[in-house]
Amino acid sequence: MAKAEKKAKKPTASKKPTATQSMADQNVNTKNTVTEDDDLSVERKLTSLYKLQAILSEIDKIKMLRGELPLEVQDLEDEVAGLQTRIQNFLLDSKDFETVIGQERIKITDSNALILKYKEQLENVRNNREFDSLSKEIEFQSIEMELAEKRIREYTTESKKIKDTIAESKALLIERQANLQSKKEELDEIISETKIQEEGLREKAKQLETTIELRLLAAFKRIRKGTRNGLAVVYIQRDACGGCFNKIPPQRQLEIKQSKRTIVCEHCGRIIVDPQLAGVE
Ligand SMILES: [Zn+2]
Repeated sequence: MAKAEKKAKKPTASKKPTATQSMADQNVNTKNTVTEDDDLSVERKLTSLYKLQAILSEIDKIKMLRGELPLEVQDLEDEVAGLQTRIQNFLLDSKDFETVIGQERIKITDSNALILKYKEQLENVRNNREFDSLSKEIEFQSIEMELAEKRIREYTTESKKIKDTIAESKALLIERQANLQSKKEELDEIISETKIQEEGLREKAKQLETTIELRLLAAFKRIRKGTRNGLAVVYIQRDACGGCFNKIPPQRQLEIKQSKRTIVCEHCGRIIVDPQLAGVE
């Protein structure tokens, strides 16, 4: 009552609203609306917009279908390349070991020849000094031979390890290559299968866009960009926004069902339409 009295004391505030006041009122009304339209066309506009949303969602789905595959193919390609490099490097190591083992074998042959030669010379020694010298040479060559044999054993063990690793890597490479091949084929198939479908959808979307008011279309695109699932237009689902699932007050639901203006969700900003308009109910 006190409020009414207060208001009554200010005659300019109520009776005849000035132009600015009515604008302010409208601003309050349109706080949660994208556009203000005449009743008849709003429903049609929202229907077009919902159709556009459905088409774009189809395209999103196609992209999602490919979504993982290109990544998987890329990963496999990287792995195959990595394995090939690994095998190449191990093959080089393996070759190096073969070279050094060959060198040790030559040393053994040389020492063997020397020992034979010294033993022959031992038959004809003329004094103790010569005998001692030859004996020492034979001993030295024997040690050299033993060392070379020891190295050959070590290198052979190492070389075997490398060869095992190469074999393992080669088996893995074959497996990954087969996997890559099938994933690639799968991706190619999906791309070629969905390419025509996607192009058709894009064409449809383009045509539909020409029938939608630019301002509304811009708002739609802006909202769509801001959502993770690409849904800018949703319908009421179980008394809630179909985008963020926050409850919609009954009065607002009624307004949405009347489709007399464009209403956006006060929580997520998505455009909410009547399920019937969306062809759901
Ligand atoms: Zn919402």
